[in-house]
Amino acid sequence: MSKPPVTDPRRRIPRTDALLALPAVSAARARLGDTAIRDIIRQAQDAARRGETPPDDVERIVVESVSASYASSIRPVLNATGVVVHTNLGRAPLSPAALDAVGAASGYVDVELDLESGTRSKRGAATRSALLRACPAAEDALMVNNGAAALVLATTALAAGRAVVISRGEMIEIGAGFRLTELIASTGARLHEVGTTNRTHARDYADALTDDDVGAILKVHPSNFRVEGFTSETSLSELRGLARAHGVPVVADIGSGLLQPDPLLPDEPDATTTLESGADLVIASGDKLLGGPQAGLLLGDGALVQRLAKHPLARAVRADKLALAAMEATVGGPRPPVWEYLHADPDRLRVRTESLGTAVGFPIVAHDGRVGGGGAPGVPLPGWAVRLPVATAARLRVGDPAVLPRVHDDACLVDLRCVPEADDVRVLAAIRQALGAS
Ligand SMILES: *Cc1c(COP(=O)(O)O)cnc(C)c1O
Repeated sequence: MSKPPVTDPRRRIPRTDALLALPAVSAARARLGDTAIRDIIRQAQDAARRGETPPDDVERIVVESVSASYASSIRPVLNATGVVVHTNLGRAPLSPAALDAVGAASGYVDVELDLESGTRSKRGAATRSALLRACPAAEDALMVNNGAAALVLATTALAAGRAVVISRGEMIEIGAGFRLTELIASTGARLHEVGTTNRTHARDYADALTDDDVGAILKVHPSNFRVEGFTSETSLSELRGLARAHGVPVVADIGSGLLQPDPLLPDEPDATTTLESGADLVIASGDKLLGGPQAGLLLGDGALVQRLAKHPLARAVRADKLALAAMEATVGGPRPPVWEYLHADPDRLRVRTESLGTAVGFPIVAHDGRVGGGGAPGVPLPGWAVRLPVATAARLRVGDPAVLPRVHDDACLVDLRCVPEADDVRVLAAIRQALGAS
């Protein structure tokens, strides 16, 4: 290959060492790492070599790219959908207290060490205590990776090679094609289905307990749908007597993770009531209505929880230190954002929405938020939204900050329920930017 002639503008492309020496670039090294920085430089130089950008712009492009880059490409999104537990947006946002706890836990920590004696301690003991204080109906608590992992651990430890009895009315699929029944079958436990889609009676369970080698009875909260009309479900208190007589535990998967009842969501089960009504073990997610990090909680009978904790599989699904720290701060600290957004005052929402609508010159409409995450289907959360042209939605998503609105009725609806009030100004700026780009 011959060298470009002296007059070739490509000769003016800055050299790598010159670019690396720029103050903004060397300052970004600690944040991004060498490989990422060199990639950015190479891309800018290559674009200039191909004639796509003038060589004189390379320096500016490199400085801008390193400033706008992060070691993680996950981007914060302002949730303007009105859906509180939004699975595609990472479910529950952490509280400031939980965020601090994650920061503190990110280095070396005493997660398995007793500092007084200098000896090894039980992993996650502080999180366990916080959970038991928040749910005194449980004798013991274990936190694992997520709700699905809690279900796998419970069915494996209690019923591998035996039967798990489940009502046909509770054989649910939750998001992304995830079927609880397939998960259970994958553990080596056998599903023993009882009853019908709409009605399952105590005698159905009784027959199964007599006929089969049952390891556990599983009650699942059908979180994302409702069967209405001629229905009948066997209550936990009915099951308790039956199960005890056969020495079989009743495991209840409540899904959303409320530890205590919430009057706003009367049909949503909570761990305390479920244990008091007769479940021996409750399974719940940490990042739905509980408002914490991704986690699976196992709460209830002390001997059962210990049995699960000692099972070899427990090691494969154990919670990481960041999640343990965030969970302790969520259940023991201030109310998490999920709670605040669920209980947002509609009048205050209206004031904020009106001020946003006026500032951008578009009308506001009544808009119901939703619980989301498969929780409390059909429960509207009355609120408001600014109604923008539908084309605004795509521009808001790729704006800075990224804003996710709801697209409905051929309109782009911006609902402030799940936006921290301090961020209203950022939503306003993002909408102005998106409208201006039309
Ligand atoms: C969400 C849910 C799960 C799964 O929990 P993950 O934390 O998402 O793994 C299991 N059961 C029910 C009833 C649920 O609603």
